[in-house]
Amino acid sequence: MRLEAREVSFAYGQKTVLHQVSLEIGRAEVLALIGPNGAGKTTLLKILAGLLRPQTGRVQLLEPRAKRMAYLAQSEPLPPEFTVLEVVSLGRLPHQGFLGASTKADQQQIELALERTDTKQFANRRVQELSGGEAQRVALARALAQQPEVLLLDEPTNHLDLAHQSELLRLLEQEKKSGLSVVMVVHDLVLAGRADRVALLHQGHLERIGNPEEVLELNILEKVYQTKLEKLQTSDGRTVVIPK
Ligand code: ADP
Repeated sequence: MRLEAREVSFAYGQKTVLHQVSLEIGRAEVLALIGPNGAGKTTLLKILAGLLRPQTGRVQLLEPRAKRMAYLAQSEPLPPEFTVLEVVSLGRLPHQGFLGASTKADQQQIELALERTDTKQFANRRVQELSGGEAQRVALARALAQQPEVLLLDEPTNHLDLAHQSELLRLLEQEKKSGLSVVMVVHDLVLAGRADRVALLHQGHLERIGNPEEVLELNILEKVYQTKLEKLQTSDGRTVVIPK
């Protein structure tokens, strides 16, 4: 599965917020989208999801979207009266026929999604009773239940505690083995450093794209983020960038 944006430009009214952005997401790849506030990350993600149409350029995806792609907004609106199980079951809708009959495969995928996101324990609770982090995991479970080939995530870790942040990364690693491609907007450059590739957006321009070592360069990041940063080496040899 390949997803490609070619020379995508986008304006809200008169204000151009993306300038000829081209990038490609390969099969079984995690791409982190980074950049300061207002750089155009969310807009680009929505364009990749087909929710916004670029004024020029195009996004190419080979197959129909519903079964292939799942998009998760920063705060995904979930129906408050629904139980967690009901919400996750909604993820199977694109796979069901006109009458919406649920099959054994549907049940299995729902079960798996609940387990992988650690939400099975409160499957019967109503959405309105959940914390922000729990709700975020439920939204992720619904997305996984769709069995997408491309998963587009806007700040998927912003409500998650540390344990669930690492779990999310482990989960994505696991899903990658079956070919899942992920584009995720992240603020945390430590998380970005664990992606396969990183795309740095700055004022609507794709400033850089490449593997984490290539993109997480102090001089370029300090220029783009307008702040002092520091580079550290982890015990397993990865490089992380943190504010100084
Ligand atoms: P990021 O996700 O990197 O913070 P966004 O894609 O959300 O950036 O926004 C890029 C620019 O577009 C910002 O200047 C923002 O103010 C503007 N923008 C975002 N959404 C809208 C909108 N619906 N209408 C007008 N301007 C918008």
